[in-house]
Amino acid sequence: MLLEVRGLGKKFGGLDAVKGVDLDVPEGQVTAIIGPNGAGKSTLFNLLAGFYRPTSGTVTFEGKDITGMKPHRTVREGIARTFQTTKLFDDATVLDNVLAGRVVRSKSNALDAVFHTPRHRRDERASKARAMEELEFVGAAHLRDRLASKLPQEAQKRVSMAQALATEPRLLLLDEPAAGTNDEETEAFGLLIRQIVARGITVCLVEHKMSMVMNLADQIVVLDHGQRIATGTPAQIKSDPLVIEAYLGA
Ligand code: ADP
Ligand code: MG
Repeated sequence: MLLEVRGLGKKFGGLDAVKGVDLDVPEGQVTAIIGPNGAGKSTLFNLLAGFYRPTSGTVTFEGKDITGMKPHRTVREGIARTFQTTKLFDDATVLDNVLAGRVVRSKSNALDAVFHTPRHRRDERASKARAMEELEFVGAAHLRDRLASKLPQEAQKRVSMAQALATEPRLLLLDEPAAGTNDEETEAFGLLIRQIVARGITVCLVEHKMSMVMNLADQIVVLDHGQRIATGTPAQIKSDPLVIEAYLGA
């Protein structure tokens, strides 16, 4: 198992945003996490990537206990995420935003940077090449010199994906990649996610668009009120009475 989550919990005051969640994410697959608004999906991602510290439970990634690790360390371990609301650097170009994702893989240190050593220059060139590759991969290379914050939502989502991919993740957490996009764009994001999986990157996806979830997911996990209420293949989930009651029927 690439990721093993056991008894994971997060309390906000008296509220159990995530409660006793067990989750196995097999390598090379797409695991979709669905559930009504407020079910705890984004909180779960924040716990996995270290933005929140769990109140209880454990997170094991590639056999290593990463419970409570901060985001700059989980990203080095190989976990990258995109946000439900894209979080790009406002005054930076698209290329600089993606280069920010390269920082975690930089081989030169602060002194190399200050003195512009040959190692630093080599590193910078390689980083830029890699960032451009990722921009090409997501179909946003032509936007490299544009201000990220001025782009339409759909383009910003692509750039965030390139930024996450630039960190060389083994596990990519995508929080509502298709939210606010039209049917055609949703379809294009679906294709892009398939290409990401084809690169050997495991994907965990939170998404409300059921067509996308049913098309892409190998495994679906359903959360409701912070708890896991079902796990199964798309076909199993579609016909699960608990799920229909909590979510699909709503
Ligand atoms: P989802 O992504 O499934 O819509 P969230 O994980 O965002 O749900 O939220 C789960 C619950 O936790 C909600 O009731 C939400 O209001 C609450 N919550 C999320 N983040 C915080 C926070 N930082 N502080 C307090 N409550 C929070
Ligand atoms: Mg959410």
